[in-house]
Amino acid sequence: MNHKTAMTLLPAGADGQLGPFRRFLLDRHIARCTSCRAEQEALHALSTVVRTSLPVHRAPPSLAARIGAALPREAPPEPVRTRLLWPQLGFGVGGALAGAALTLALMWTPAAPDRLATEAVANHVRSMLADHLTDVTTSDQHTVKPWLSARLDFSPVAKDFTASGYPLVGGRLDYIDGHQAAAIVYRRDRHIINLFVYPSNEADALPRMEQRDGFHIVRWRSGGLKYIAVSDVEAAQLQGFVTLVRQAAG
Ligand SMILES: [Zn+2]
Repeated sequence: MNHKTAMTLLPAGADGQLGPFRRFLLDRHIARCTSCRAEQEALHALSTVVRTSLPVHRAPPSLAARIGAALPREAPPEPVRTRLLWPQLGFGVGGALAGAALTLALMWTPAAPDRLATEAVANHVRSMLADHLTDVTTSDQHTVKPWLSARLDFSPVAKDFTASGYPLVGGRLDYIDGHQAAAIVYRRDRHIINLFVYPSNEADALPRMEQRDGFHIVRWRSGGLKYIAVSDVEAAQLQGFVTLVRQAAG
C-alpha cells in the first residue's frame, strides 16, 4: 500500500471500520512509515477524547429498523470510466520498443466492485506472505516455460525481460477464476509482479487497468488465454510490463 492510500484509510482504520485485508495492508505500511504512524497516534488520541467526553445514546432496534425501511434503496454506483491513451508516453521499456507506435485503449475503472480483481489481488498478496512465491525459482526462461507446460494443459509464455528492467523470478501453479493457472513471477526494482495466465474461450480483449487496495491490476485476453498482471508498482511501470508480455506472446 502506498503512502497516499494509507493516509486516506487512516481515519477508517482508527474507527475500526476496515476489513481484515485492508487492515493488514495498512498496518504493514504504518510499520514502515513514520508520518502515517504519527497521524494514527493523533487519530487515536482524538477518538479517545471523543469517546470519554461525549455521552452516547443508541437508538432502540425498533426505531433503527423503521428508519432503515423508510429510506430509499441505494442504487449501485456507476463505474467511472475515463479513456486514456496508452502507452504513447515513454516509460523505460527498452530501446526495442521505443520506436513501436503502440496506441492501445486503456479503460480505467477505479474501485468498481469486481470479484476477479479482488481474487487476483488476494492471490498476489498470499504468494508473498505464504513463502510460496514460486514453485520453480529461476530467471532461466527455458526452464520456467517447460516446467509450467508440463503441469498445465496450455503453454504460457514465460520470457525473461531483464534487459527492459523486469527480470523473471520464476513460476508456480495457482488457482484463479475457477481455473488452474500459471503464475509467472517478475520483479521490478523491489516490487513483485504476478502474471496469471489461464485458458479462456472468450473473444480477445485489450488491456484494462484497475486499482484495488494500492495494487494495480491489468487484464486482457489474447489467443485463447486470459492474462491478469498484479503489482504495487506504479501504473506506468505495470503498463510497460504488459506491453512486453503482449509483444512476447505475439
Ligand atoms: Zn505513509
